Amino acid sequence: MRKVSIFGATGSIGQNTIDLIARDMASYAVVALSGGQNIQQLAKDAIRLRADVAVTADEARLEELRAALAGSGVEAAAGAEAIAEAAARPADWVMSAIVGAAGLRPGLVALEQGATLALANKESLVTAGALIMGTAERCGGQILPVDSEHSAVFQGLVGEDMSAVERIIITASGGAFRDWSLDDMAKATPEQASSHPNWNMGQRITIDSASMFNKALEVIETKEFFRCPHEMIEVLVHPESMVHALVGFNDGALMAHVGPPDMRHAIGYALHYPERQKLPVERLDLSKIGSLHFRDPDLERYPALRLAHEVLAMGGLAGATFNAAKEIALDGFIDHRIGFLQMAEVVEEVLERLSASQCLKNAEMTLDTVTETDHLARKTALEVIAELNR
Ligand code: NAD
Ligand code: MG
Repeated sequence: MRKVSIFGATGSIGQNTIDLIARDMASYAVVALSGGQNIQQLAKDAIRLRADVAVTADEARLEELRAALAGSGVEAAAGAEAIAEAAARPADWVMSAIVGAAGLRPGLVALEQGATLALANKESLVTAGALIMGTAERCGGQILPVDSEHSAVFQGLVGEDMSAVERIIITASGGAFRDWSLDDMAKATPEQASSHPNWNMGQRITIDSASMFNKALEVIETKEFFRCPHEMIEVLVHPESMVHALVGFNDGALMAHVGPPDMRHAIGYALHYPERQKLPVERLDLSKIGSLHFRDPDLERYPALRLAHEVLAMGGLAGATFNAAKEIALDGFIDHRIGFLQMAEVVEEVLERLSASQCLKNAEMTLDTVTETDHLARKTALEVIAELNR
């Protein structure tokens, strides 16, 4: 039996991962599940999957979790330390599906104990790409991408030599506002931004899809994971979300990965790698679909894409700054403190203010310097939002 743990088990990726594992319980021993506020879901899944331990991120809810697990034999724990402790428990395969920078530490700890890390938490690569890739190398652990585009690129590269790759193209659905004017986008509400035309995902990544901050994070993720020059990375708007990515080779070939917009494909690929196993996803009938569409993204409507390349040109801790500022700007939009287009203004302003500071220039990347930068960027972003509201 393979030992597996799932961090962010109550979220969209976590639940899809549980769906796959629960179909084949005889093959897996579940070590740890973690969640946040959804205590009942966490407890229910931990009991059903017979996990050793269930951890909620919220320390104040430990008693509630204990009560929900009473008599089941599943251990209850709470808080960020407890999540890191659970990630240190030996497992063969660990799903990193916490949303935001909070996902970095458990991923690092899982790699340190030698697990294969299935990485949905793109923020880990954005904030600390060199650190997480270096930890995998040092500890002999493997990272498998779970973001659909990166799984698609990874699959397109099997048996290929990176030196023959000329470009990596990741697609973007365009999100909720792909056909909206700039004026309408300026007035968009969090509710409008929270529904995705093709994918069913957590609220934060859905809003990030509408602003293309998600694609901006993914451009950085591509550079960090595949270690290619950022000039090689392109974004293509593809409203149908069926071609997830394309790899362009030096002989002119473009290898496209085509599949239904269902995260269980990328999760299942990472779960069974290097094999392929039958997955419960739709089989596409291209004759019924008929046509697929592609166009260049409009950088005026999606400034996040321009910022991603600026961040990559800065290097070092600029990714941690970018992600943290984006998380605070997103909070500000969700809480109606700033407008939809102001999210990019906040992030750009934070990058500008901090690019002059010592913090961003500090070349050494450790968990401490990343955390420090993250805190400073959050504080600066809150100041910028307060100034915008003055
Ligand atoms: P979600 O909001 O549905 O779930 C997030 C999970 O993280 C929940 O279990 C929540 O309890 C937990 N969590 C939230 N804040 C936490 C904190 N501070 N500490 C510990 N746990 C915390 O999110 P999601 O859509 O499943 O996305 C998870 C990650 O996967 C994100 O990094 C996202 O970018 C990435 N991703 C998601 C999808 C998708 O289809 N949903 C696709 C590609 C990549
Ligand atoms: Mg993606």
